[in-house]
Amino acid sequence: MRKQAHERGTITRMPGVSIDEIIRSKRKTLALIVQRDGRVVVRAPQRLSQSKIMEFVQSKADWVLETQTRMRSQPSPLPPKHYVEGETFWYLGQAYPLVFVEHQREALSLEANFCLRQNARPKASEAFENWYRRRARAILTERVQHYAAKHGFSYQRIRISAARSRWGSCSSRGTLSFPWRLVMAPLPVIDYVVIHELAHTVVPNHSPRFWDLVASILPDWKQKRQWLKKNGPLYRID
Ligand SMILES: [Zn+2]
Repeated sequence: MRKQAHERGTITRMPGVSIDEIIRSKRKTLALIVQRDGRVVVRAPQRLSQSKIMEFVQSKADWVLETQTRMRSQPSPLPPKHYVEGETFWYLGQAYPLVFVEHQREALSLEANFCLRQNARPKASEAFENWYRRRARAILTERVQHYAAKHGFSYQRIRISAARSRWGSCSSRGTLSFPWRLVMAPLPVIDYVVIHELAHTVVPNHSPRFWDLVASILPDWKQKRQWLKKNGPLYRID
């Protein structure tokens, strides 16, 4: 067993940065860790003085504060999917439990539950992605056509992407891209993303003119945007 000495509690305060824990071991160098909850942990050699440790952390104060801010603004990570009976998956804002079935033409289907064919289980995430992609293509095509016709927008084509960090984009050539994950969200939220990207075909940036245009179609866009920010991280299958 490795021998480690832990010094806990708020050990050192300095302008803006505090060390929450010092872990001493046989190591020769200092290491600074900002944990997901923002706690600052220093791994240090057995005999290094506290003032040397403080000096080190102080020299990294900007990095520590920046990292803490970033960590706190990130939602805590979700447990990974295991593809077991009863685990839920989202579609149009509703969570449906997963069940396994023996005989079924499609690998995955949705009724009151997500029904996954038993022998498709080893490739469950692939089956889900394919299913979401098909639904995304159908739903987004329909919604884009509907709003484009209603408000006189023109676009080139619709692309379904695997993007994780954004909910839509619009190229200068008028290609509208949406991640297949978007169909996990409720329809009014999907519509906000569709209107947002269609509005970019007219105003390519996020200027006040852009938001005025979005608001003229969807007065409560802010609420939808907030909703997506908060709930978006739930929409994953891995
Ligand atoms: Zn935008």
